[in-house]
Amino acid sequence: LADNISAETVWCQMFSEPGAGSDVASLQTKAELDGDEWIINGQKVWTTLAHVCDYGVLIARTNPEVIKHAGISMFIVDMRDPAVEIRPIHQIDGGMHFNEVFFTDIRIPKDNLLGPLHEGWRLATSMLMYERVAIGTGSTGGITTPHAKRLIEYAQKSGTISNPVLRQKLMKLYCEETAKSLVSMRTRAELKAGKAPGPGGSLGKLHGSKILRDVRSLINDVVGMEADAWAEGDRGQWWGRLALGSFQAGIAGGTDEIQKNIIGDRVLGLPREPSVDKGVPFKDLLVGTQKDS
Ligand SMILES: Cc1cc2nc3c(=O)[nH]c(=O)nc-3n(C[C@H](O)[C@H](O)[C@H](O)COP(=O)(O)OP(=O)(O)OC[C@H]3O[C@@H](n4cnc5c(N)ncnc54)[C@H](O)[C@@H]3O)c2cc1C
Repeated sequence: LADNISAETVWCQMFSEPGAGSDVASLQTKAELDGDEWIINGQKVWTTLAHVCDYGVLIARTNPEVIKHAGISMFIVDMRDPAVEIRPIHQIDGGMHFNEVFFTDIRIPKDNLLGPLHEGWRLATSMLMYERVAIGTGSTGGITTPHAKRLIEYAQKSGTISNPVLRQKLMKLYCEETAKSLVSMRTRAELKAGKAPGPGGSLGKLHGSKILRDVRSLINDVVGMEADAWAEGDRGQWWGRLALGSFQAGIAGGTDEIQKNIIGDRVLGLPREPSVDKGVPFKDLLVGTQKDS
């Protein structure tokens, strides 16, 4: 753990699968115990930084006979094992930050089970709540308005700041970033006081995603073509990448729609979404490749 915290070793999180993203409890990667080892088979996708990681935290199905949330366990996997195949995904902005990861009969020690057997869902949701708070609060303390500041500077230099409609949009962004910083400061203070992140963490993440959507639209208004047509190293590249990369904010760590469901259900106490698979053992669900069987 010390190496993990100091980043001597880098770790990735292997939850999502081609057929299990928002509904990650429908995952099909399976782990079977064979003597003192677990044998793992399956595929993960969108695994951030898997190609540079030493270890990964994986959730896999250990009991298909029970409902989908109940038969999942969490494991630690050595990402350098030859039975782990990592294929990078090429992004629209030119980057390659995430990957597909395939497991073919990889054997890991029995002790690499993280937490109790079949309790992986509880651990995974806890990790996701920390992730949402991390995404939603950002890394800097204090009140910051990074996107508003850069866009205002650009508009001042180019002269578009004289447009009153644009000024109003920039001011709105400034206010939203300020409000987000204040909420983040409160969340960080709560964490410092020992409070575990709860479903309220989804609020910061959802707000951050909305802000980046506004930033994307403002890049169009303020920077214009320069952000659309650029070659490697051009001034517009930074803006173009920011605009293209902004889409990830509403997907990574759970989509905007899922955050709204969590807020509605667990913060506002609204009725839960209807679930057609309630009480059905995982093996009988028509999910992923089970649809074809
Ligand atoms: C930058 C980035 C980094 C990522 N890193 C990782 C990582 O390191 N590890 C990892 O495991 N995963 C990672 N992911 C994957 C991410 O968690 C999933 O993409 C996300 O959970 C959505 O799953 P999906 O892509 O399968 O979309 P789907 O679940 O197929 O969703 C498709 C659409 O349907 C909507 N939808 C689905 N269910 C509902 C519902 N119940 N109610 C309303 N709308 C719904 C969604 O909001 C979305 O608009 C990453 C994704 C991104 C973009």
